[in-house]
Amino acid sequence: MTNVSFSKKKNRIRESIDVGGITPFTTIDYPGQLAAVLFLQGCPWRCHYCHNSELIRRRAAPGLPWSSAVKFLQQRKGLIDAVVFSGGEPTLQSGLGMAVRQVKRMGFKIGLHTAGTYPDRLEKLLPLIDWVGLDIKASVQQYSDITGIKNSGERAWRSARLIVESNLDYEVRTTIHPRLIDRGKLFNLVTELVDLQVENYVIQECVPTHCLNSGFRVIEQFPLDETDIRNIAQNFTNFELRMAG
Ligand code: SF4
Repeated sequence: MTNVSFSKKKNRIRESIDVGGITPFTTIDYPGQLAAVLFLQGCPWRCHYCHNSELIRRRAAPGLPWSSAVKFLQQRKGLIDAVVFSGGEPTLQSGLGMAVRQVKRMGFKIGLHTAGTYPDRLEKLLPLIDWVGLDIKASVQQYSDITGIKNSGERAWRSARLIVESNLDYEVRTTIHPRLIDRGKLFNLVTELVDLQVENYVIQECVPTHCLNSGFRVIEQFPLDETDIRNIAQNFTNFELRMAG
């Protein structure tokens, strides 16, 4: 009886997880941990600066079977500490909870990269997760200018609140493409993050060469100077600036 139900569960994972690719070893995708990254296929948003455009369509390319991903992770036991579910938007996939549980049982810590697209799903997942990297792209009202999707801001900010109110380790990060977020908008955003009591904040410069929207593949002046960065940093317990290149 047990065997039958386990096999059904494995089948459900296989049917509902689309793995688009794997990074076998990274030190930068889960702070302080040696990790592998599973890139899950599919995202409902269309950010102008998305640099993983090949992962946006759910079944754009023949992905890696879930069983192969599991086999790979079994071989990484003892070599890495954590597995990060990234994308695309990993919470798009209905099998994510089961997949996370399976990987957790293998002894790995679990990291999640998300844009906060599905706050209800995220809320259910949070008890299984050890660390979250959440993209907050802009103030609520400016979100659709970046994602192309109405009400995306409400979803992302609801996810931010869930994460901040949980006891999880997390970072909130904002990608800067000067055409989409200027200095004034960024300072407004920082004020809103402080009001939300975000403690760990990262600003990362966009690498424009692979932007989904080819009109955004231009390098423009980064809108912040050193004084701006210092002024922003003092609002957070932990702050990091990640410049491209
Ligand atoms: S939310 Fe992330 S994966 Fe989805 S389109 Fe935007 S940048 Fe790309």
